[in-house]
Amino acid sequence: MKNLLFLFMLTPAFMWAQDGNHPEFDVKTPEVEYKLRFLASDELKGRDTGSEENNIAASFIAAHLEAYGFKPAEGQSSFYQTINFLKTKAPSRGMLKIGANTFNQGEELMIISGNLENTTAEVVFARHGWVDEASGRDDYDDLDVKGKIVVVLPGTEEDQSDQAAFGAAAGKRKIAQSKGALALIELYRLQFPWQFFKRYFGGESLSQPDGNNNGEPTMLYGWMQEGQDQEDLAKVREGKSLGGEIMSEGYVRQEAPSHNVVGVLEGSDPELKDEYILLSAHFDHVGVQSRGPGQDSIFNGARDNAMGTVAILTAAESLSKERPKRSVIILACTGEEKGLLGSRYYSENPLVPLEKTIFNLNTDGAGYNTTSSIAVIGWGRTGTDYAIEKSAEAFGLGIIKDPAPEQGLFDRSDNVSFASKGVPALNFGPAFENFDAEIQKYYHQPADEADAVDMEYLLKYAQSFTYLARIIANNIEKPTWKEGDKYEEAGKELYKK
Ligand SMILES: [Zn+2]
Repeated sequence: MKNLLFLFMLTPAFMWAQDGNHPEFDVKTPEVEYKLRFLASDELKGRDTGSEENNIAASFIAAHLEAYGFKPAEGQSSFYQTINFLKTKAPSRGMLKIGANTFNQGEELMIISGNLENTTAEVVFARHGWVDEASGRDDYDDLDVKGKIVVVLPGTEEDQSDQAAFGAAAGKRKIAQSKGALALIELYRLQFPWQFFKRYFGGESLSQPDGNNNGEPTMLYGWMQEGQDQEDLAKVREGKSLGGEIMSEGYVRQEAPSHNVVGVLEGSDPELKDEYILLSAHFDHVGVQSRGPGQDSIFNGARDNAMGTVAILTAAESLSKERPKRSVIILACTGEEKGLLGSRYYSENPLVPLEKTIFNLNTDGAGYNTTSSIAVIGWGRTGTDYAIEKSAEAFGLGIIKDPAPEQGLFDRSDNVSFASKGVPALNFGPAFENFDAEIQKYYHQPADEADAVDMEYLLKYAQSFTYLARIIANNIEKPTWKEGDKYEEAGKELYKK
């Protein structure tokens, strides 16, 4: 009997109790499981940013924050921070005829914007289509392009690199439009492979209007590849104008509002409550992509990143039951898969001043290939290693420190939006050593489904994340960037007073 008691004292269960039994230690599997199953359900269609289903996920998160007693940030009337994205999609059909040569959308032709009914027009060549008042260069000279199809070379006379070509494109469109052109078509002479170019510009894309592109040209714009045996195109390039025809349809350009979800819980300490710990996870994923008949087309994003979303909701509930000294901000980010757009938007438009935000604990990952650990990206950089060790050990988890360094993971998830502003940050993720076949089986694949997630691991993952947040939120000493860290200077700048 005595011996058995001694053995019991060595088990992790006893060690947790020593630190007081915080609410996260009592969470049960079904409480994390239903959240994951809902977020990763087929009905949410992969939570693509700008989709209705992404908004449903946001509403699910907001409902939980409300129920847990979180409040919208000061001055806000709801948990939503709305971002007015712009969704664009290249025309699904298009055709260009130059003399006897015909070019089809998706083959040698990639019209990027504009819808136009079949129109007969003259085709003219305007060199690079560039006008530079400073140097007096005018590629149009006295060329009249009103109502015509204008073909140009990429870049400018001075620079035809890919970079120059992409950089000059917007200016060329404005110039051609101001001259009354019907369409502007650039000849594809870039290093970047045509196949990739078509895939990139042929799909749907989401951008954040910067306020300057409201006047985007409405004129039809695209690129075409020059092939063999296109004598009439060659004649145009030599300066001869020929009869032509052009059409496109299916171009989409529309507003697509999406929301970050932001809730605040006041800290329990009269002084420390003026400092905030920011817990973040992206809840968007990559939506639906057709993979051929009979194939699963829904990218459910259970691991990436319904798991992280469940972790921040678990933290929200447990921290609200036993409030830590510092205040807590829960930030569920949209737009991560589109290029960290949601977290960047928040970091540019914070709802709590960033200089009061002492730490960002983000949770996201590519998936896991072991259930005995967690992976930490940013180990040794913010003075929080002691807390990570304690929180992992409490749930019997090991720590994989900065896996796959060649992938530059720290700068590829939402934590970098805050780190680059100076806020000490790290990413807490599911465990993996490298991008092996087990990771690739699920990473951005339709197979990343709830049924393939180990719910016991999800529970420990969410508990450990929560306990880590609690320790940092309670510790008198604030995290700081390690001396010499690439974000140390930004940190000094942010917190100076
Ligand atoms: Zn992710």
